[in-house]
Amino acid sequence: MGITSYDGSEFYSHRGLGHVAQVFSQKELDALPGMMASGHVRYSTTGGSGLRNVQPLFADLASGGFAIAHNGNISNAMALKRDLVAKGSIFQSTSDTETIIHLVATSRYPTLLDRFIDALRMVEGAYSLICMTPEGMIACRDPLGIRPLVMGRLGDAIVFASETVALDVIGAEFTRAVEPGELVQVDHKGTISSHRPFGTPSPRPCIFEHVYFSRPDSVMDGRSVYGVRKQIGVELAKEAPAPADLVIPVPDSGVPAAIGYAQESGIPFELGIIRSHYVGRTFIQPGEQARHNDVKRKHNANRALVEGKKIILIDDSIVRGTTSLKIVEMMRDAGAAEVHMRIASPPTEHSCFYGVDTPERSKLLAANMDIEAMAAFIKADSLAFVSIDGLYRAVGEAKRNSKCPQFCDACFSGDYPTKLTDFTERQPPKLNAA
Ligand code: AMP
Repeated sequence: MGITSYDGSEFYSHRGLGHVAQVFSQKELDALPGMMASGHVRYSTTGGSGLRNVQPLFADLASGGFAIAHNGNISNAMALKRDLVAKGSIFQSTSDTETIIHLVATSRYPTLLDRFIDALRMVEGAYSLICMTPEGMIACRDPLGIRPLVMGRLGDAIVFASETVALDVIGAEFTRAVEPGELVQVDHKGTISSHRPFGTPSPRPCIFEHVYFSRPDSVMDGRSVYGVRKQIGVELAKEAPAPADLVIPVPDSGVPAAIGYAQESGIPFELGIIRSHYVGRTFIQPGEQARHNDVKRKHNANRALVEGKKIILIDDSIVRGTTSLKIVEMMRDAGAAEVHMRIASPPTEHSCFYGVDTPERSKLLAANMDIEAMAAFIKADSLAFVSIDGLYRAVGEAKRNSKCPQFCDACFSGDYPTKLTDFTERQPPKLNAA
């Protein structure tokens, strides 16, 4: 993770590998003076996780310093990089984000803002960006608004963040979302100007933010993430009931949906799995064996509760199936009489190329098996997923508009809303399939 600041004449930066608290103590923060700063926590998808890829990335351009922090993933970064390198650009990282710096540096437009817009016109994929220049800050979202970005105020200061929860924790007030395709410029006097260089295409924000990615205490596009997750549980209970004694969440990701499922079905909600808060996210552990071991250390069965009971287990998603298999086994070992798995998203059949870390398709359980085979694989008595329309109902839509979907749901539908220049050879997507 990293932070870059600017004090009116110099840029300062500290970047390191590890969690925020490992990289930053008061000493490092004190060495970042100024009236403007941006920070970034890397969740690496494209490019490696070495120090040179830690953001904000910084470059000295003809116009002065330029710092950039990126949430998302550029799906033609490799193609752009090939062209740029052929013309003489020298890359210092393997991060897709660096292509934007080189595109800005080589653009021939007169102002930095125009060079930045010119660069973004060549980029495809998902990007919410925060850039710092000697003139101020530019925040922008890609034309489809795939990744979120919000704006708030703390006293006289303007604050941008991916999620509203980041505003809450520093005591800032939410102002509004940065709109899809919008560039918001803030100068050092606090003057805000908004630009829409891409017209107004139909937005396609990521629906997986609602399912899993965002914090439940965030509000996205006016919808409480927690409320949506509970509602997915309600839809799931209507679509896929099961005769059981208890509804049990896989902590923490399955909790809100399990509450909704329990309320709708009338089956009691209980904590049948207790989670250790001292083991981190298992998903991001490299290697299958490490993930297996961590799932075991992270979750433990509440045997006194589940013994002899028919249970409904709720989780938000199945990706590789590692978590579900371990949890079902754990429930059986603890004496559960029946285990019915219910998932608060449709089957994840396709990889994400827009910034959510999903393995390649061959490793996605749902890309390789039908639901019956998946149930057998995870050793559940039954398995069901919420339907895509059920998910859309939960986020407040009547149904998915198949001609022009309201969200990016490519991980479930294979309907990728942008070109995928870098990936098309590796995994031919169903582009804009109805
Ligand atoms: P798996 O064991 O591969 O099936 O992973 C499924 C679990 O990982 C689910 O319980 C989710 O809570 C979590 N998960 C799903 N997608 C992601 C992601 N992109 N990054 C981190 N965790 C995830």
